[in-house]
Amino acid sequence: MSTLTMANPSLNNLEAAENKFNYRVDKFADIEILRYQVTDFEKLSLSQKLLVYYLSEAALEGRDILYDQNHKNNLSIRRTMETIYLSYKEDKNTTDFKNFTTYLKQIWMGNGIHHHYSEDKFTPHFTPLFLSNAINQLSAKQLAAVTLPNETKENFIKRISKIIFDATLYPKRTNQQDGVDLIQTSANNYYGDGISQTEVEQFYAAMKNPAETKPISYGLNSKLVKENGKLVEKTYRIGGMYSAAITRIVGWLNKALAYTENDKQKQVINKLISYYQTGDLHTFDQYAIQWVGDLASQVDFVNGFTESYGDPLGMKASWESIVNFKNIEATKRTEIISSNAQWFENNSPIDAQFKKEKVKGVSAKVITAAILAGDCYPSTPIGVNLPNANWIRAEYGSKSVTIENITEAYDQAALGNGFAEEFMWSDTERERAKQFASQTNNLHTDLHECLGHGSGKLLEGVDPDALKAYGSTIEEARADLFGLYYMADSKIIELGLLPSIEAYKAEYYQFIMNGLMTQLTRVKSGKNIEEAHMRNRQLIAAWVYEKGKPENVIEFKVRNGENFIVVNNYEKLRSLFGNLLAEIQRIKSTGDWEGAKNLVETYAIQVDTKLHQEVLQRYEKLNLAPYKGFVNPVYSLQKDSQGNVTDVKVDYTETYVQQHLRYSKNYSVLPNYN
Ligand code: ZN
Repeated sequence: MSTLTMANPSLNNLEAAENKFNYRVDKFADIEILRYQVTDFEKLSLSQKLLVYYLSEAALEGRDILYDQNHKNNLSIRRTMETIYLSYKEDKNTTDFKNFTTYLKQIWMGNGIHHHYSEDKFTPHFTPLFLSNAINQLSAKQLAAVTLPNETKENFIKRISKIIFDATLYPKRTNQQDGVDLIQTSANNYYGDGISQTEVEQFYAAMKNPAETKPISYGLNSKLVKENGKLVEKTYRIGGMYSAAITRIVGWLNKALAYTENDKQKQVINKLISYYQTGDLHTFDQYAIQWVGDLASQVDFVNGFTESYGDPLGMKASWESIVNFKNIEATKRTEIISSNAQWFENNSPIDAQFKKEKVKGVSAKVITAAILAGDCYPSTPIGVNLPNANWIRAEYGSKSVTIENITEAYDQAALGNGFAEEFMWSDTERERAKQFASQTNNLHTDLHECLGHGSGKLLEGVDPDALKAYGSTIEEARADLFGLYYMADSKIIELGLLPSIEAYKAEYYQFIMNGLMTQLTRVKSGKNIEEAHMRNRQLIAAWVYEKGKPENVIEFKVRNGENFIVVNNYEKLRSLFGNLLAEIQRIKSTGDWEGAKNLVETYAIQVDTKLHQEVLQRYEKLNLAPYKGFVNPVYSLQKDSQGNVTDVKVDYTETYVQQHLRYSKNYSVLPNYN
């Protein structure tokens, strides 16, 4: 099950609220780095602030794990580049050195040598000669810290240069393209060398018992390797793989225990610690159940091997952490949605046999992120819905959150950037966006996370993984459609969730424009769409466009040789969303792999090359970065003359470069190769 919602790459012409906070931090390649504000941190009690502080330290300790999971050479390459950056003695104003700095910034953004979003390996613009000269200047000690044991300098330069410059080597972090061996063509590090997809599938099929009603998340926290011709799991735990980093994480979690808000929260942290000690996936499930049951605490966190987007087979999880606290005012909105969950389920446009008789435990809250880490940093989701195990979700519900200080940062940074002027058809659409888009974006995320993922059910005996590589796209489409369909419902007005029956049109227009056109700004020329959330958006937009053609529901209009989206019939568009939701739910509920394949292959992947070129050119003129990342605030303990902690201070002045160099210095205990 997929659980993270990525931000739309677009707009939001909010009213320019006078806000002196500096949201913009850095810009390079196709990336802009922003800063987020931890609103109301000062209103927390000292004990809560300390809890946030220690959980944040635990979060930052996992950074290297993700680098290594993403690719086996990542740590070695990052450390080499950072060492060069810090010790470089020649002219730093050369093009080579500037390109080198950009490359290092890209590595930090991607948590490795692959792009965080496209997952393609990016190639540097400095020369191989520059690199070999720079490495030649390193001291013996500096070199020994980054090379393999007994590796000569010459061999190291040769090996590293090939990894960095040869575009055909490790081209893709996670390969989702059907028809080839997905394990062997993925550059990430969840499986050891020389293991085929068939071997992996057989290994886990032998482990699973299809009759099991409460299966553990097989393979979630391990690397599968071949030792003496036999497949074995190297488990991520203290004493196992990534032991040094996990030991530090547990050290901080132990300190956090002194500041928990209640016993339940203490049990949650204790259970997480014992899971990190044993690597036992039954313990992980117990932890997930306790975690989802803690609704009272204001401070909360995710910390661990969580999402499996990085594994082409969807089993192995990348490490991530978010520390946060509840935004009490905004949470009232999601509580209204949650308390009406059964009404939404009952009135959903899907076949009755796929509906849940009883929608359980849909809890939802709006949170303020205090620290982002691992796979949630520098690029971050704006919503999270966990845990992922289907049976736990069915029996205990899930926790669904919207991270509003992150969406606020996106909105604020996008003010007046010219995007809406370039791509929207007329002032009508722009005015609507200005008036409603911020509210409808938040509401769509809430509906997606609180209700969408949790709605519907599988028919008995259907394998939750039946849709395989198409599963993530279908699941995201399901959640998005649920939100889109209901956004236009009079129930939303009745519940006071939107101020006007016109408001939903802002979301509809934006969604279609994004899905058919503007999200192409994130796709490189000549490429197709690969990321699951983007596939889902194009799938939905292209499907309703095609099905609405006879009635001209949506059309492309050309003005001065440029294409625009015009929505002619919003009511009809809503019913098309409903039709597609019914079909997607049928596919999910019945495990119809052929149906999923057909939808995804027909609508979600192929890009109209001509339109793509046009969108890229128009976007380039705006000089905007299609991807955003974040820096974290810096927390420090304030002490009195006796050494007692009196407060936790938040500082927002650290730059992107300073932050990453500090993280690499203070939170980096794993060996180069694990
Ligand atoms: Zn989602």
